Amino acid sequence: MPEKVKTDLGFADLQCRKSDVGRISRIAKAAYSFNRRFFGKEIKKPFHIIICYSRKEFDDIWGAETDAWLTGFATKTGTIVSFRDDLIRKYNPRKEATLAGTLRHEINHIFYFQIYGSYEPAWLLEGLTLQPPFEPFTLMENDKKRLKGPLPHLIYSTNGKTFFKQAPFLYSMAFLATRH
Ligand SMILES: [Zn+2]
Repeated sequence: MPEKVKTDLGFADLQCRKSDVGRISRIAKAAYSFNRRFFGKEIKKPFHIIICYSRKEFDDIWGAETDAWLTGFATKTGTIVSFRDDLIRKYNPRKEATLAGTLRHEINHIFYFQIYGSYEPAWLLEGLTLQPPFEPFTLMENDKKRLKGPLPHLIYSTNGKTFFKQAPFLYSMAFLATRH
């Protein structure tokens, strides 16, 4: 597991390889500022960012074997865990996936949790992160096939398949809930 490194971030501490500190700090700062603008406020409690360099490190923190597509998550105790870019590209089924996008997404969850005190309801939590310019949702061929089935409503599961099937609806629902 990479050790805690010195940074000038202020809002979070960082565990990563020494050679990655500068680049990852820049990405984290941009992702934090992005969310500060999105929510229109600062959050008070510093959080943690851990960058993993192998699936084993990632699974050790998760506490079990993770699905192959999972490349980042945020815990209730305020820890964001992500792979470095090269491994995100290797594992994430979305070819546009990056560390910048992952940190914008997970830091959005940290803001949500610190402002609201919960990660529920999941459709709103995940829906917020699908709003442009976070991760405008692009359908992959598999999603298009799945979407020909019955339309999903306010059902959400952290199961990857259900998420990808519902993502376009989560986005529209979260947009309606927050912008209208
Ligand atoms: Zn999420």
